[in-house]
Amino acid sequence: MVGEGAEDRMTSQFATHEVFNQSPPFADVNLFTSDRALMEAVNREGGGHAVKRLTAFGAACGSAEAFERGRLANEHPPRLRPFDAKGRRLDTVEFHPAYHECMALSAAEGLHCSAWDHLATPGAPPLPGANVARSAGCYMAIQMEAGHQCPITMTNAALPTLQLQPSLAEWWVPRILSREYDGSFRPAGQKRGVTIGMGMTEKQGGTDVRANTTAAVPAAGSGGPGAEYVVTGHKWFMSAPMCDAFLVLAQAPGGLSCFLMPRFLPDGSVNALAFQRLKEKLGNRSNASSEVEFHGAHAWLVGEEGRGVPTIIEMVTCTRLDCAVASSGLMRLALANAVHHCRHRTVFQKRLVDQPLMSLVLADMALDVEAATALSFRLARSFDRAADEHAAAWRRLMTPVTKYWVCKIAPALAYEAMECLGGNGYVEEGIAARIYRELPVNAIWEGSGNVMALDLLRVLQREPETVEIVLDDLAKAVGGDAHLKGQLTRVQTLLYEPRLLDRRGRDLAEALATLAAATILRAHAPAPVADAFIATRLSGAARHTYGQGLDWADTRAIVDRALPGAA
Ligand SMILES: Cc1cc2nc3c(=O)[nH]c(=O)nc-3n(C[C@H](O)[C@H](O)[C@H](O)COP(=O)(O)OP(=O)(O)OC[C@H]3O[C@@H](n4cnc5c(N)ncnc54)[C@H](O)[C@@H]3O)c2cc1C
Repeated sequence: MVGEGAEDRMTSQFATHEVFNQSPPFADVNLFTSDRALMEAVNREGGGHAVKRLTAFGAACGSAEAFERGRLANEHPPRLRPFDAKGRRLDTVEFHPAYHECMALSAAEGLHCSAWDHLATPGAPPLPGANVARSAGCYMAIQMEAGHQCPITMTNAALPTLQLQPSLAEWWVPRILSREYDGSFRPAGQKRGVTIGMGMTEKQGGTDVRANTTAAVPAAGSGGPGAEYVVTGHKWFMSAPMCDAFLVLAQAPGGLSCFLMPRFLPDGSVNALAFQRLKEKLGNRSNASSEVEFHGAHAWLVGEEGRGVPTIIEMVTCTRLDCAVASSGLMRLALANAVHHCRHRTVFQKRLVDQPLMSLVLADMALDVEAATALSFRLARSFDRAADEHAAAWRRLMTPVTKYWVCKIAPALAYEAMECLGGNGYVEEGIAARIYRELPVNAIWEGSGNVMALDLLRVLQREPETVEIVLDDLAKAVGGDAHLKGQLTRVQTLLYEPRLLDRRGRDLAEALATLAAATILRAHAPAPVADAFIATRLSGAARHTYGQGLDWADTRAIVDRALPGAA
């Protein structure tokens, strides 16, 4: 038995040393007001009306409690419960309460739907800046916890596709627009709020969905838009399986088609979705990604038979914006966490942040975060202004470009940010390792790197007028800056060599992304940021790692802007 005072004796007995020169946890940070690049982007791109709300949400997402939620949701990943104790099918997934709390917070903020709030009032126009404001919320929620953003993103993205079938939209849209999260497994009609997932990828093809073998036959008569079908087949990846319905691709008699497949049928019985297992993933662990079979599951046709890809493409486009925003948010968290640590860690009598080589690395990473944030929010604005010809052209051309570049540079940044923490960065208790494991998924899903490059080439071939509008706008933004002019010429050279274009999709995507980012930074970022980005990303010696080519730059100003406040 441990007697009185034993605890003190045990503490002192094993207290061999004092813990010092370790940074305090990165927590209780307002993720909005501490992020100048984000605040400026929100105001610049039309989300100024949401600043008050975003300030409150930034405090909530950056609280110690929120980060703890993120840790718990990932350390206790979801579990599939295919059967109950007596062998009856359950096909449910159990999540840690922390995951549900993240969902409730994001849903209350409207991140799963707020860009579509105008649908609540028939005939009302979209709310100005709604996508920018929502993107800012997602950018911060992803820093609290990344995995739960998957159903949040898919639900938001499902709305434009659902609207193509008014008979279905009428019932589902009002339920989606609810700000209440309801994690219970019940028919959607009995729930306070619903979420929507997506099932496209099969074993034999994810990118090439025309290879889908899952078959759909009309439940009665000849089928048609809005009609009920019976679906048999599988999906190799179907995330967030506790969603209330899924937009699913399947082969109908008229070709590949898009269906809405609910978890429960109108009579209250459970639809025939049998989950095989959950994926064991590199990251994104709080989110469940299932393999599923449809054993004659019932689903309702969205749009025309044979028009599956054009019908679901709006959903896919919206998710691509979210991938870029999510990667930008996680890059910013990785950077802020590294700057915070380096301000508190002393090596050889000098703080790490003041060591010349470290200040170069931190500043160099900050340039990519600035560029990624600027590009992502410019893209969000183009979603808000789709009626404008210039914004529509930007949205079409720059969605694959932005998704490609931001999602591709993010993992390398997360790795470098991890190294700034030394060994502390590599262990799972901190956030650096989790961010690093999370980031590659944004490049892989919703159109992998080559697929984005191919989409860009498709615009060049099929919509030359779109390219012309964006290039004219970029040429105006370039002005007299010699580096920017040089990059514009490079883009034009790539464009007008059609012979080689099919091999240059990645060159062009990267060149366009850096040109566009540089024009935004030149116009709106402080000179130390714009000058350093342009000098290293558009010209200067070739580099493969961070911390080079900036010996002349005001790295202090760049780092202080990246995370203001600390001495
Ligand atoms: C965690 C996670 C969750 C997911 N959740 C879902 C979900 O909820 N719903 C869903 O439907 N899917 C989901 N996916 C699947 C994802 O969207 C696919 O993995 C992705 O679309 C790629 O398809 P694939 O895996 O079949 O690879 P493939 O299509 O075989 O592609 C493999 C590689 O080839 C490249 N490639 C393809 N075509 C070409 C070409 N013509 N030229 C050059 N290169 C090419 C691709 O860029 C990729 O790098 C998820 C994936 C992950 C990792």
